[in-house]
Amino acid sequence: MKDVICQGCNKPIRRRSELAVVGKTFLTYHRDCYARASLGTRFVHGYRINGPALWYILFLINGMMFGALFFLPNVKMDGEFKTILIFGNAVIIGIRLLSYIFVELRVPKD
Ligand SMILES: [Zn+2]
Repeated sequence: MKDVICQGCNKPIRRRSELAVVGKTFLTYHRDCYARASLGTRFVHGYRINGPALWYILFLINGMMFGALFFLPNVKMDGEFKTILIFGNAVIIGIRLLSYIFVELRVPKD
């Protein structure tokens, strides 16, 4: 299996607990290397996919959707609402799944 290489130090990532998958292009870093990366780099590349941020976003989107449903009188559980809800969740869970299948599984679990 081809090694997963860190974009920060160009060394292979040996353990899944060290792996950080970042942004929509699934860049791979050691967690430590990503933590050391400049704020600019982190801003451009985005969030770690295999970290807690993604679940916060998922939680936030659903919280906002259901918050709107309960508190705004003109928001109803109609076809449009369901479409946005399902699409939003599918995108986030899909990204997480792609990262897992195409990147994380290539790094041995420790
Ligand atoms: Zn590294």
